[in-house]
Amino acid sequence: MRTDYDVCIVGSGAGGGMAAYVLTQAGANVVLLEAGGAWDSRTDSAMLTWPYQSSRRGAPTSERPFGEFDACIGGWEIAGEPYTVADGDRFTWWRARMLGGRTNHWGRISLRFGPDDFRGRSLDGLGDDWPVGYKDIRPFYDRVDRLVGVFGSVEGLRNHPDGIFLPPPSPRCYELLVKQACDRLGITCIPARVSVLTRAHNGRPACHYCGQCNRGCRTNSNFSSPGVLITPALATGRLTLITNAMAREVTVSDTGLANGVSYIEKTTGEDRHVRGRIVVLAASACESARLLLNSKSSHFPHGLANSSGMVGRDLTDTTGTDVGGLIPRLMDQVPHNEDGVGSLHLYMPWWLDNRKLDFPRGYHIEVWGGLSQPGYGFMGDIHKYPSGGGYGLQLKRDYRRYYGATVWLAMRGEMIPNPDSYCEIDPTRVDRWGIPVLRFHWKWSEHEIRQTRHAQQTFRSIIAEMGGQVLESMPDSTTDFGLQPGGRIIHEVGGTRMGDDRRSSVLNRYAQAHDVKNLFVVDGGSFVGQADKNPTWTILALAWRTSEYIAEQRRQRAI
Ligand SMILES: Cc1cc2nc3c(=O)[nH]c(=O)nc-3n(C[C@H](O)[C@H](O)[C@H](O)COP(=O)(O)OP(=O)(O)OC[C@H]3O[C@@H](n4cnc5c(N)ncnc54)[C@H](O)[C@@H]3O)c2cc1C
Ligand code: SF4
Repeated sequence: MRTDYDVCIVGSGAGGGMAAYVLTQAGANVVLLEAGGAWDSRTDSAMLTWPYQSSRRGAPTSERPFGEFDACIGGWEIAGEPYTVADGDRFTWWRARMLGGRTNHWGRISLRFGPDDFRGRSLDGLGDDWPVGYKDIRPFYDRVDRLVGVFGSVEGLRNHPDGIFLPPPSPRCYELLVKQACDRLGITCIPARVSVLTRAHNGRPACHYCGQCNRGCRTNSNFSSPGVLITPALATGRLTLITNAMAREVTVSDTGLANGVSYIEKTTGEDRHVRGRIVVLAASACESARLLLNSKSSHFPHGLANSSGMVGRDLTDTTGTDVGGLIPRLMDQVPHNEDGVGSLHLYMPWWLDNRKLDFPRGYHIEVWGGLSQPGYGFMGDIHKYPSGGGYGLQLKRDYRRYYGATVWLAMRGEMIPNPDSYCEIDPTRVDRWGIPVLRFHWKWSEHEIRQTRHAQQTFRSIIAEMGGQVLESMPDSTTDFGLQPGGRIIHEVGGTRMGDDRRSSVLNRYAQAHDVKNLFVVDGGSFVGQADKNPTWTILALAWRTSEYIAEQRRQRAI
């Protein structure tokens, strides 16, 4: 195996997969280090497995906290890979450890950021503006849409740009009821935008509506990095994939340029090094910040690319809270076919004007419910239903009556970066390989807390409008109105933010380190802030843009 490459990428999720795809197509010899093991959903997925086929009936395992049939290997805790949280703060960190990272289990809700999302500071004085605008990223969103495939509807909403859409699937029964209630309440409710193929696309067949996307798709009809990006990158013959390779540090030459990555071969515990003329980090936002902070040298005593002191800073997550309601009209359903994709068919993009509200940024609403396959833990909260749980025949009858009668509404909202939410290296803890771990600090501000109260009130009004009964009482200020801890929505971005001013940012507008011209970050680390949208479509578009920039710089022999 060669040990010298044009480009060394760390991490094979959304950002790393896209960089490998674009750079190998552009002719570069690429090595990709991935901390987890190999995964191919065509052979490894548990799609269509019945719970009775396993003695665990699908119950979670330590490696698969979302259930044993789930595609994603990882979790909030990983044996031998701790992280710490500052006293009094609440933060949880989800990590995937497998080829493709978290793209093996994500909701596949694929939203573009809108024009306003790149210029928050200009609009309301909070957070910061990005050094790029929607018009800079739009061509790359278009490319991602064309390559990956996303369904949706053309709506012409100002800050929720339309894409190049495949037809959306029809709403399911419970979604139709939600839509009717929203129409009456004046809440915008439109077809969801999800990267599942409703038509055959680029050699991949259309979805057959089994509803099990979280298990990985054997027909490759949804987006995951291995299925859509890594496989074609390997087919070029220019990608060397090294799995079970835990990157320890980015190494630098005497001239202060990155010259490769040292890593631990996890199966043997041996230390290794791979040389790359260009290094691209895509280990996920926080892990890439950790790598940079751990890459100390005489040139970079405070960590690599950290002359601004901003590595680890401006870390944000999406805000989240949810409300479930029992809808009597959905009880005792006549059995019917409610097949669909393993994600939303409808959603509610932010529909209000923040200038008329007591919080500055918006949220979108995700709708969950329906007749998905029962498995371990099925209807575990049945004691909260009107009959109050029970035993024996009565309990069985209740399961049948209430099956599919619950609707969940979830807030996914914008957090504004603040100086109290960041990660740094814990001075005392190391992981199983002796690599210093991250310590998280987290504070929500009044902006996010007021936003959450609004969402809780809105969700309750939607369920009331549906004639339903909310299953939990309204949370109060002592619990931040039900706002989840930082990290819980698993949309953490920032930590190596981009900007035009090298004193206040880590990367320039092409996600190239200000301090090290042959070092790039293509995961969510480069984000300047959040939006009321999920981040992954923007990670993919930015990674494509940065990779084209790298290819052009190589052609010009500038790096
Ligand atoms: C349950 C769930 C639902 C989600 N739903 C949505 C959604 O609907 N829409 C949306 O936009 N986003 C969603 N997300 C978020 C989405 O998955 C992430 O935004 C996206 O995958 C991030 O891509 P990434 O490339 O930054 O990191 P990842 O996809 O996490 O990939 C990082 C990779 O780097 C590897 N790695 C880490 N450290 C090292 C190291 N030191 N050395 C070598 N390799 C390393 C990891 O093993 C991993 O494979 C969801 C996530 C989860 C878990
Ligand atoms: S719902 Fe469609 S895309 Fe998802 S796993 Fe089933 S067939 Fe694949």
